[in-house]
Formats: sequence, structure tokens, C-alpha cells
Amino acid sequence: MNRNTAEKLSNAAQTKHNKSLVLRSVWNNNGISRLEISNITRLSTATVSRLVDSLIQDELLMEQQPMAAPKGRPMKPVCFKAEGHYLIGIDLGTTYIRGVLTNLSIEPIKEIEVVTESHKDPEYVLNKVVQVIMNLASTNLVDPTKIIGVGIAVAGIINLNTGIVEYSPAFNWRNIELREFMNSHVPYPVFFDNVSRAMALGEITFGNKPGFEDLVCINVGYGIGAGIVIGRKLFYGTDGMAGEFGHFPVKGDEQVFCTCGKKNCLTAYASGDAIAQRAKIGLITDKSSILNQIAPKDLDAKHVAEAAKNGDPLANAVFAEAMGYLGRAIAGLLNIFNPQAIVLGGGVSLNGSIFWDNLKPVIEENVFDHRSTKYHILPSSHPDKSAIYGALAMVLQEILNLSLTIRK
Ligand SMILES: [Zn+2]
Repeated sequence: MNRNTAEKLSNAAQTKHNKSLVLRSVWNNNGISRLEISNITRLSTATVSRLVDSLIQDELLMEQQPMAAPKGRPMKPVCFKAEGHYLIGIDLGTTYIRGVLTNLSIEPIKEIEVVTESHKDPEYVLNKVVQVIMNLASTNLVDPTKIIGVGIAVAGIINLNTGIVEYSPAFNWRNIELREFMNSHVPYPVFFDNVSRAMALGEITFGNKPGFEDLVCINVGYGIGAGIVIGRKLFYGTDGMAGEFGHFPVKGDEQVFCTCGKKNCLTAYASGDAIAQRAKIGLITDKSSILNQIAPKDLDAKHVAEAAKNGDPLANAVFAEAMGYLGRAIAGLLNIFNPQAIVLGGGVSLNGSIFWDNLKPVIEENVFDHRSTKYHILPSSHPDKSAIYGALAMVLQEILNLSLTIRK
């Protein structure tokens, strides 16, 4: 490569980097002026003006009506052009596939929910995901050529280098070539990640506490997983397996096993599946519990939580035991990572006081609390949609990084 070509390339990379800085500053402060962008990014006002004009050309940004400035010319606030481009987010859960089409301001335009039928073969399930994506894109409300990308949140160990779901106990999948399948069936760039990591990305992108730099987002649903954020970046670990919190070893009793087959995993005590299984074991000898009214095949963690709220002793004991194991493990995470916050999402966390009142005292009792700032234990910012927001965040981060081809 000759020197001129190398210089041109590095100039292009620098411009892209600066454009991304401008875009991020507008995302964080929608409606700011070019002068304010210059103050935030430390780029000259002339450079900011040139980059903003280019981003307006790309239909990522737009100018609002001029406002009177304290001195000089009226300022024109710069904001995202909501209808400039569109995103699709998919929550591929074991029970439901949920999808949403939004504009650039992440306002929902169309939503779809279908039953997953996860017991069927992987190709059948992935074809259903494709149908949801194509159905979302097929609306006269948007120009489908302006759909910029699709994010998919899915449970399992995912190799982002190869695009393969290596192992998903929830779906009973091994080595599913997710990227290849989606690339050959969907006409948009598709991004995917583990659901718990997606939820953590959603939390730092769209969450109620945008100032947090270090946090751990824990998904307590049918299984348990975590997304670890260090310095506002997702932590993946050497093999991309960081955050497998459900397989955190605790003292097991061989009554319930983890989906991975081991007996000592946290999942075998505190997951939604384990809570239901342990209640069923309790019902063998407890004939007075109100849970006896539910057919064993239908009994899930939600029933146990409801019965516990109604004072059922068996349900209370099962739930308290589950939260004891979860709380001690979370105290361990606080001790190891010293995050500003632990954010809790997933179906089990949606059970209100029976979840929080059992969990928080255990954390407080077990944490090594000699820190100068108080840690926060918080519910997810979008409690029943955290996976969908995570999926949308994957696409939005690609937009903010300017990693996508913008079609005008
Ligand atoms: Zn396990």
C-alpha cells in the first residue's frame, strides 16, 4: 500500500470515528445544538457542522425548528430522524417468538407474537423467526428498503465469530448455524447474541440509569443467565461464555438437576423451572397446599409465587429457598465485580414483593459491604420487554458505530 492510500484510509477511518462521536452525542442528548456537540466531542464547530450535514444526508439526523439562542444566530436543535430508518428486534424465547418493528427513535410501529413450538426441530423454529421478520417488514407503514437491520436475542452459548449457537439447553440445540440460516433467508443484516447479554446491552442503551458504567444484568426466567458490563462494554470472556451465572456452583441435593446435567448449579435451585419442580416434589407429601389444585404438568413458577403471596407454606418455603440461593450468589457477584448495580429481569423477577422481599435481605446479609458507594439492586428498565430492547440495542449500537450500510 502506498503512503497516499494509507493516508486516505486513515482519514476515512478518522472521519467515521468522528461521525460516530457526533451520532452518539446526539443519541445521548437528543435536540442539542451543533455548538453543544462541539463541546461534548471536542471537535471544532466547523468539523461538527460538516459531519452533521453528512449525517443529515444519510437520513440519520435532522434539524428541528430554530430556537432563539442567548446570543448570535438562532440555534437549530439536531435530533435523530425518527422515520429515516427502521429496526427490527426479535426475542426468540422457548415459549414465544416476539418481534417489533420500530423507527430510529425506537417507537414501535408493528408488533408480532407467535408460539415458538420449541420442541420441534431447529429449522422449523428458525423458519418461524424468518416469518416473523418478513411479516414485520411487510407493512405499508414503512418503506422496507429502509429497514437497517435485525437483532435477535436467543438463549444459549453463542460463538459470535462463527455465528453458531453451540449449545442451548433451553432449546436442546447443539451447533445450530444461526448466522448462515438468517443470511440466506433474510434480506437485512442480522445480529444476535445471548439473551442475558442482550438484556444488559439494552439496559446500557435504553435503560433508566444511563450513567452506570459497570453493572451485571441477571435474567431469572426458565433458566438463569447474566450479562456483565464493564466500562459500558459487554464482557464476553475468552470463549464468549462469560455470564453463565446459572451454572454457578452451589451445594446441590440431587433432587433437581441443572439443564446441563450437573447437580450443583444455581439453576437447579433458583430458576423458574427449578421452583416449579421443587414445588411438585413438595406436593408428594404436602396434601394441604393450594398448589394441589393445579395439574402437575401445568404447574409453573408463577403459580408458586401466587400461592406464596396467598400464604401457602409449601410455596413460601420453595420460593424463600430459591431466593436464598440466588441472593447468596448475587452477593458473590457484588464481591467479585464491585458493580454500581445489579439489574434483575426475566419472568421470575416479575413476581413483585415475593421476589424482592425474599431476595434483598439475603444479598445484604451476605455481601462484603465495605465499599464507599452503595450498590443498587434494581428491576430491569423494561421489565417484560428487556429481551426485545436488547435485540433492538444490538442494531442501534451498529448504527451508532456506523457499521451498517445506509441505504438512501
Ligand atoms: Zn448447569
